Amino acid sequence: MTIIYYNGEFRDDQVTLDYNDRGYQFGDGIYEVVRVYDGRLFTAREHFERLVRSAGEILITAPKTVDEYIEICEQLIEKNQLADGNIYIQVTRGVAVRNHAFPEHAEPVTLMYTYEAGRPLKGMQDGVKVITAEDIRWLRCDIKSLNLLGNVLNKEKAVRAGAVEAVQIRDGVVTEGASSNVYIIKDGTIYTHPANNLILNGITRQVIKECAEELLIPFHEETFGPDELLAADEVFISSTTLEVTPVVQVDEKVIGGPGPVARKLQQAFDEKIQTGR
Ligand code: PLP
Repeated sequence: MTIIYYNGEFRDDQVTLDYNDRGYQFGDGIYEVVRVYDGRLFTAREHFERLVRSAGEILITAPKTVDEYIEICEQLIEKNQLADGNIYIQVTRGVAVRNHAFPEHAEPVTLMYTYEAGRPLKGMQDGVKVITAEDIRWLRCDIKSLNLLGNVLNKEKAVRAGAVEAVQIRDGVVTEGASSNVYIIKDGTIYTHPANNLILNGITRQVIKECAEELLIPFHEETFGPDELLAADEVFISSTTLEVTPVVQVDEKVIGGPGPVARKLQQAFDEKIQTGR
């Protein structure tokens, strides 16, 4: 039996969700996914700082502090004896009779649970195929919101094409994947979309930036288009669950690889995991 955290209590996984929860009816809430390696949280502080920010951006006051969220995670790891996996956290605006406008008296509802998951070793080793797709999402992709329909539809398109990810393109610019950040390498320099309202500033992206700086690999937060994507020396994607995953094919174009820069970043990222950063 899995022990979950629901609204202030640890309990078994048989909770009753209220059908008037605004997360359920409007996607009115935010979430995070935090990685656990060998029973230890990885970059949890950064994830919870982003959770508090995402909540604030949609005018929800996060019910807990960063330290309190970390403490609950530690307890969930312990209670579920989790070694390798993830912790999912979501906070919704709360329960109220259906009305688009914010309710006057609603308490945020928090759900946190763990699930087992291994590292994505095969994709990291061999590389993966991606497709390109139009970025049809809203203009606040910096908020890790529960509204994921644009992401979900593009991810499904990728899966149906036998690919792992959809690289999204808005107005001729590569933004990010449906659930990952996207990078190209040209002449030894890494390029990735700037951290603005059009992408989620991935925590993995921030660790990769740190690794690149330590390895003295130029890291440019600059936009690039689909032509540059196809002409890149290397392409890779990143996320909490994908880590540094090289891309070996974009649509019908075989890029080849995995390349040497992705390999160096994988190694540096692995050292961060081992040392707990
Ligand atoms: N971009 C999107 C749209 C995502 O959903 C995610 C993660 O789920 C990321 C980027 C990568 O973020 P992180 O590295 O914090 O997992």
